[in-house]
Amino acid sequence: MKNIGVVGGGLLGRLTSWRLLQAGCDVTLFEAGSLSVCPGAARTAAAMISPLSEVVDSERLIYDMGMAGLALWPAWNRQLQRPISYSERGSLVLAHTQDASQLTQFAAKLQHHLGDQCGSDYEWLEQSQIARLESDLSHFHRALYLRTEAHLDNHALLDQLLADIQALGGRTLEHTPVQSLQAHRVDTQHQSLSFDEVIDCRGVGAKPDIKDLRGVRGEVLWVQTPELELQRPVRFMHPRYKLYVVPKPNQQFIIGATEIESEDRSPISLRSHLELSSALYALNPAFAEARVVMTDVNLRPSLMDNRPRLERQPGLVRANGLYRHGYLLAPAVVECILAEVLELEASVFTSHITRGISTSLKRSPSNQKPSPSNREHSLC
Ligand SMILES: Cc1cc2nc3c(=O)[nH]c(=O)nc-3n(C[C@H](O)[C@H](O)[C@H](O)COP(=O)(O)OP(=O)(O)OC[C@H]3O[C@@H](n4cnc5c(N)ncnc54)[C@H](O)[C@@H]3O)c2cc1C
Repeated sequence: MKNIGVVGGGLLGRLTSWRLLQAGCDVTLFEAGSLSVCPGAARTAAAMISPLSEVVDSERLIYDMGMAGLALWPAWNRQLQRPISYSERGSLVLAHTQDASQLTQFAAKLQHHLGDQCGSDYEWLEQSQIARLESDLSHFHRALYLRTEAHLDNHALLDQLLADIQALGGRTLEHTPVQSLQAHRVDTQHQSLSFDEVIDCRGVGAKPDIKDLRGVRGEVLWVQTPELELQRPVRFMHPRYKLYVVPKPNQQFIIGATEIESEDRSPISLRSHLELSSALYALNPAFAEARVVMTDVNLRPSLMDNRPRLERQPGLVRANGLYRHGYLLAPAVVECILAEVLELEASVFTSHITRGISTSLKRSPSNQKPSPSNREHSLC
């Protein structure tokens, strides 16, 4: 049985710990902050699983990994002791009539990235069809319905993963910032611990060891209103600002998100608050009386190419760069981590999502470990 230290109790750290415990490993999870609060981007996120929407402004790899994630999330959810709310009702992309070109452009970009293959993944809706899906958006004349997209209750997920990790015998050390980590070793202020493998899931906290890592500031609003109901995430195309609204439990909605090249974690700016609120009001004026229950700010851990990356050396895996796609990509990335740490041949799942990867350790033609001590392979 392998003894594994996982550093960082955000999205990747929790999912990886949980999966390793399921596989029979001994796991110690270190988190700098509180595990019940989770200071990482994982708790701030809207938690949409949106491969189509995301590929529009990224690349095909994100779609392929995201589709694999979409396939895996429901199965993983069922394995939790108490499954969380996971919605597979798709998402809508909307624009007012005067901004219809934004919508056409979105569809053109989808077509460009995915070709005819994505034809069955989305459809154009007319007003009556929009009204059938979302009665509170019946004033829109045209929308794109991305029927395969999903979203989940990430606050419930993070809490449940923690409960499951502890129930499976994982050792959890919160308020324990790791001062340094290296192959087989984790150093905190008070102790130095040895492991068969160390997995670095520190998100932006890994900056001292990953030179091209940066944080990308994202701000969100949480509002609550009984006046409106949405069944699915809605992306609103507006010439000045784009916004998404994702329904959350208790008549709440998360509205996001800004994307600012800054590592400033201070509270939301007045400008961002205004822009998000204005766009929300433009989506449906009934939001005017919604109560702002929370604002939140966090940093998306991002590499210069905005792709996820594993760095591997014996006794150490660094997983980072999930950027704005953490919930979308985490299942695929975690499967890659498990294959490395458990020395598995590529699973059906891993080979499916990493088809284009020729540099991966387990899939190198000779199936031998590359010789340089610090191999780095981008997941593409
Ligand atoms: C506003 C916003 C909206 C988003 N919306 C979405 C979305 O809708 N869909 C989607 O797929 N993704 C979304 N994301 C992205 C997603 O949240 C991230 O990609 C994901 O959380 C990254 O996971 P991670 O585990 O790498 O990092 P994190 O979740 O940030 O976790 C890192 C953890 O490591 C801990 N840590 C750091 N340093 C140390 C240390 N020295 N010792 C111990 N612990 C340490 C931190 O405290 C933190 O808990 C969004 C992000 C933001 C900010």
